Amino acid sequence: MDSISSRIHQVNPSLTLAVTNQAKAMAARGEEVYGLAGGEPEIDTPEHIKAAAIVALQEGRTKYTPSGGIPELREALVAKLANDNGLDYDAKQICVTAGAKMACYNAILAIVEEGDEVIIPAPYWVSYPEMVRLAGGKPVIVETKESDGWKLTAEQFEAAMTPATKMVILNSPSNPTGAVYSKDELEAIGEVALSEDIIILSDEIYEKLTYDGAEHHSIASLSEDLYNLTVTVNGFSKAYSMTGWRLGYTAAPKPIAEAIDKIQNHTVSNATSFAQYAGVAALNGDQNFLDDLRAEYDVRRQFVFQRLKGIHNIRVVEPKGAFYFFVYTGQLGIKSLNLCDKLLSRYKVAAVPGIAFGYDDGIRLSYCTTLDVLNEGLTRFEQFCREH
Ligand code: PMP
Repeated sequence: MDSISSRIHQVNPSLTLAVTNQAKAMAARGEEVYGLAGGEPEIDTPEHIKAAAIVALQEGRTKYTPSGGIPELREALVAKLANDNGLDYDAKQICVTAGAKMACYNAILAIVEEGDEVIIPAPYWVSYPEMVRLAGGKPVIVETKESDGWKLTAEQFEAAMTPATKMVILNSPSNPTGAVYSKDELEAIGEVALSEDIIILSDEIYEKLTYDGAEHHSIASLSEDLYNLTVTVNGFSKAYSMTGWRLGYTAAPKPIAEAIDKIQNHTVSNATSFAQYAGVAALNGDQNFLDDLRAEYDVRRQFVFQRLKGIHNIRVVEPKGAFYFFVYTGQLGIKSLNLCDKLLSRYKVAAVPGIAFGYDDGIRLSYCTTLDVLNEGLTRFEQFCREH
């Protein structure tokens, strides 16, 4: 008898973690590995945020909290969403959860019925299709074009819609492409969503990381109708270097927020109590370090872009957000898993195969590492490209 549910059988393991684990195992054996596969800032959580968690522990804030989050954090998020994003939510519409990953999953579970279709632009963040499958839905993958900057167009969205379409997932700035949707592009997509009342899941976790004058826009802020169709997801992992703390949130129209709260109530109960106090400190504390963080990433981004432009048999679109490059490798004539395997075992460079993001003719390189590692890693990648 197969004891594993058919729901789980449909789900693929995370290929991003597989590469990172292989690279870590090589490093543990003492091999030099140039890690361009990472998905988290390498800098530590700022001290004032850590200090707030320590104080919370010392004050005994170690018990269950309300399932949607402590009032202080929800209020801080209300202010953040109003000030940064032009969004008017009240505290009850916000659900704090164990990372933006859980926030996405809660939203999908709250909305997607058995058999519902969810449109996901590819290259996509690795977990979206699997979350949709876990909820019983059907991921409908729409391949975006390099010539469109890896962004879903309104026309592509419309063409992919069927009577079964329930949701579309947007992620701007994007993991893995670094694409940032402009206000006009979001408006055009929003119009299509409104025509059939398609719910929008807007994952904005990289909002603080935009470069070169690119601006982040929350699709829910563009009109009242879009607000009523959108679940905004965000978190603390990327902006505040808090990946291990597991802190994220949804902000949603009231009926969806209530549904999400029910799920949260019966699953994780609440995000970790003292991490929530750290979240308050992150939001209410000095935000200046974000400028330094952005400036630092921008230096690396430009460095990597110049280097990649000099490699002949690949192509790359300049990313305006997040901390990734999605490199088109179709001309090398080698599929992404094979490519990353060789790159790691022979050239000691860890990268993530595009197939993990639903696009096999590309790889993701991340620049959340030092310039030295980037320099050597790219020299080796260039050598790989020359020799293939
Ligand atoms: N969405 C995207 C697009 C991401 O890249 C990530 C993290 N890799 C998440 C959500 C999940 O972040 P968290 O650590 O808050 O769960």
